[in-house]
Order: sequence, then structure tokens, then C-alpha cells
Amino acid sequence: MTLFDKFSKLAQDRAALIQDKQKSPFGTRIDQIYSPTEGRVGDRRVVLAGTNNYLGLTFDPDCIAAARHALEEEGTGTTGSRMANGTYGSHWALEAELAEFFGRRSAMVFSTGYLANLGTIGTLAGPEDIVLLDADCHASIYDACRMGGSQVIRFRHNDAADMEKRLRRLGDRARDTLIVVEGIYSMLGDQAPLADIVDVKRRLGGFLMVDEAHSVGVLGEHGRGLAEAAGVEADVDMIVGTFSKSLGAIGGFAVSQHPELDLLRYASRPYIFTASSSPSSIASVRAALKVMQARPELRQRLWDNAGRLYSGLAALGYSLGPQLGPVVAVTLGSPQEGVAFWNALIEHGVYVNLVLPPASPGGQALVRVSVSAAHSFEQIDRIVEAFDRMRPLVASGEPASAQLVEGAASAG
Ligand code: PMP
Repeated sequence: MTLFDKFSKLAQDRAALIQDKQKSPFGTRIDQIYSPTEGRVGDRRVVLAGTNNYLGLTFDPDCIAAARHALEEEGTGTTGSRMANGTYGSHWALEAELAEFFGRRSAMVFSTGYLANLGTIGTLAGPEDIVLLDADCHASIYDACRMGGSQVIRFRHNDAADMEKRLRRLGDRARDTLIVVEGIYSMLGDQAPLADIVDVKRRLGGFLMVDEAHSVGVLGEHGRGLAEAAGVEADVDMIVGTFSKSLGAIGGFAVSQHPELDLLRYASRPYIFTASSSPSSIASVRAALKVMQARPELRQRLWDNAGRLYSGLAALGYSLGPQLGPVVAVTLGSPQEGVAFWNALIEHGVYVNLVLPPASPGGQALVRVSVSAAHSFEQIDRIVEAFDRMRPLVASGEPASAQLVEGAASAG
């Protein structure tokens, strides 16, 4: 077997899932973007319900103007790492603004959220250290542990009692364990039981990191995430997050009250050995942070939309994730059914994310329907209507087949 042979099995598995006329959900091409909520996939104009554009800020006039200004004033890219020539005044200013927003001593800006996890967890926790994490944590958290070579202990998803059991087993070492959870989990859209987790940490010790990638701008009175919403910010040692969701650009960050965060800059390879975010991204994030604070009604709108979608899909009898949130997960059947369902939704004018096992829990395909503050109620209703049209076929247990896609196409 040569180096490249191992990919042929992967290619075969993928090809077996996709029938003749179907589009592939793996690496979908969105051919045109019209707005935060509308685009074109092939010949279909679709409502975009598979983005992480929670506040709809990708087309915000202030963000676009700030990015355009930076592009003209500072050029297209920094061409260097934060450590060398890639720290501009604006990177520095954004760090100060993030620290202020989160009420923390310092902030570090990374080139992506993925790198923020690698650059913090992977640097803090080495082979002598233990990371206790929720089993459903994002791949970047697992990769960070692998990079640092730390000892990983997983606890059952959202189960604070299981977390306590595992922390207790560590005895004295519990006090120096890094506990990692997420604000909102991207697969099912549910939130960590943060108050319970903090309670365990207060009793047994440890350092707590919360990845608020999906919850910044979404949860908390000021949009600071789950730690704010749960009233436990003082117990959270570090928050990591991304600019690629509510803030509508690309990049990542970490904030902390620990003075050592600043020293991480000298040791963090994912901070040192990659180019920094371009000035236009940084400028639009700075503007987005301001818009997010100035317009809390966006968050309210997001939740109104989420509630409308969740109750609409629940009323149709779909099996949904356990908690209301901006990501509504709909469990389907086999991977083949998932692919057919996803295709049919496109034909009905709705784009969502398809997740297949093993990434989806329980061995079943699921679609993640993501809501934005920029969706109109009419668009939310169109999404629900599209799910309604496919319901009889799914509910009857009939496999969602190519026939379903053709039926949808003629109805569309
Ligand atoms: N953490 C979590 C929980 C995420 O869901 C994601 C992105 N899906 C990331 C980190 C990585 O963020 P980015 O896209 O900025 O690399």
C-alpha cells in the first residue's frame, strides 16, 4: 500500500452514499451569495440555513466599510506571523477591545479559532498534564491535546456528575487539571451545564476553559457567552472563541485574567508559526464587536427566529436536539437517507448542514439547521414548509430515495 492508497477506501465510501443525480454534501459549492441568508447552489436559489452567521453581520454596512478602509490603508495581508512582522496596531487594538469586552486582564488574537485552541490548550498542557474534557468537544480541542501530548480524560457529554467522578479519581492532581467545555455544542445545539461544572471545580479544583465559539453574541445579556448567561465568569479561567461565527469574519481569540496569558505568546507555536489575520478581517471584527454591543436587538431577533424554527419543526414531529438554540439539529435515519434528505431540501430551496456518523451521535445522520438574526419570519416559515413537504416520506419509514429528490424538484 502506498502513501496515497488509503484514500481510495474513503473515496469509495463517499461515492457509495451519493446517487446519480444527487449533489454531494461533502464540500458543497455555494455558487453565489446574495445576502447573509440567501445564495445559489447550482440552479437553486436557497435560503441559507447552514451558516454560523448568527447575527447576520457578514453584510453589515459598518463592518464592510471598516474592512474596505483597512484594505485600502493597510493592504491585503500582513505577510507574517504575530511574532514577527504580523502584529499591526489594529491587532493590538482588537486585543485591548476583547479584553475590555470580556472584563479580563488580557487577550490574544490568533489566525483562526482552531489555532486559538491549539495555541492555548496545546501549549498550556504538556505530557505531564491532564485535560478533562466533554466527550463531544470540537476536533480542535482534541487536536490541541494531541499537539501538547497531554493526558486526555473524557467525561460523558454534559454530565457534571460523571465529570466530578473522574476529577475525584485524580486526587491531588485534580487541582492542576485543565477542564474544557463548550458554551453551545455545535452538533446538537445544547449548552454545557456550566453552573454545575463550576460547582465541581469550586469543590475539587482545576482550571476551567470554555470554548464560546458558538455562544459569543448569542448568550448572555451582553453577548459574552454562556459564562455570562450562567453568572459564573469569575470561575472561568480562560475563554476561547472565534471570529468566524457571530462576528462574521475569520480569526480566533483567548481571554484570561491570568497574567501568564501574555507569556503564552512566546511559547505558542500556532501563534508564532503562522501568518496573522489580514488587516481587513481585524477591522471588520472590531466593527462587529461594536455593532454587537450597540444592537442587542439582534440577539433577541436570533432567539425569536430560533424559537419559531424549533417549535415549527417540533410540531411536524421531527426529532430535535434537546435544547432550544440557534443550531437546531434534526435527526434523520441512515447516511443514505441523510444525503437524499439534504438534496431534497436544496431542491425545496433550503441549504442546511448534513452531518454523518461518526461525527453525528447515535450512528444516525442529522441535519443542522442554523438560524441567523438576519432571517425574516417568512424565511423561517419557508424552512419549516420545506421540512413539512418531506415529512410523509421520512415519517413512513420509507427510505428517502432519489425519487424523493425528483419529487421535490418538480414541486419546487
Ligand atoms: N471551536 C468550536 C467549538 C467550533 O465549533 C469551531 C468551528 N466550527 C472552532 C473552535 C474553530 O473555529 P474556526 O472556524 O475559527 O477555526
